[in-house]
Amino acid sequence: MSQRLTIAIDGPAGAGKSTTARKVAEHLGYVYIDTGAMYRAVTFAALREHVPMDDAALGALTERLDIRLEPTADGQRVVLNGEDVTRSIREAEVTSNVSQVSVFPSVRRALVQRQRMLGLNGGVVMDGRDIGSVVFPHAEIKVFLVADVDERVRRRVLEAEQRGERLDVETVRGHIIERDKLDSEREVSPLVKPEGATEIDTTHCTIADQVQRILELVDAYQKTYSIVSAFTNF
Ligand code: C5P
Repeated sequence: MSQRLTIAIDGPAGAGKSTTARKVAEHLGYVYIDTGAMYRAVTFAALREHVPMDDAALGALTERLDIRLEPTADGQRVVLNGEDVTRSIREAEVTSNVSQVSVFPSVRRALVQRQRMLGLNGGVVMDGRDIGSVVFPHAEIKVFLVADVDERVRRRVLEAEQRGERLDVETVRGHIIERDKLDSEREVSPLVKPEGATEIDTTHCTIADQVQRILELVDAYQKTYSIVSAFTNF
């Protein structure tokens, strides 16, 4: 029987994490958890409630927020204290503030604790910046997705177009570079390639290729696991 694994997918903005992670989860019948959406929901609430940008205030806010990620036919719905915020958390104001909010240790502590609860029983694909390094350092499968900045910018502009938004390419580039810098240089849980992670450069890959590569890793793990358990049960 195959084991229900924990699959951690990390990488910078626009590397293709969420679409890939969602499709891998769909294929395996696992739960998909987009941790970026959780940081975005906290940022959205902080901006709306004019919460001061300090560790104590943002930590207290995070503790009292009920954030739910509900799967839908074409993605996921993000529900914050009963309100559907799926679209609002992708708006420019949230995007340009989320990395500042994500720096605070009390915010991270509260969200990491929830993420660990959500993945407690395995059978989960979680994407973010610190999943393989901090949230689940013992995940059976760890993937680090990267892509050239030009390609990541192109994808973000295209994604926005599909939502009916027109974005300026140079502005998106500036935001992506700034977010990468903040995410990689922060003290707590910076964006790093986790130890033992398989790096996949998605610059010239289709989503189908990326999904396939990850499913191959899962398959290889399951085969090794079944051989090892056959020996240990012998
Ligand atoms: O994945 P997405 O681009 O929606 O993430 C938004 C932001 O949330 C990231 O730029 C990062 O600042 C923060 N984040 C994080 N740790 C995670 C997931 C996201 O700090 N595990």
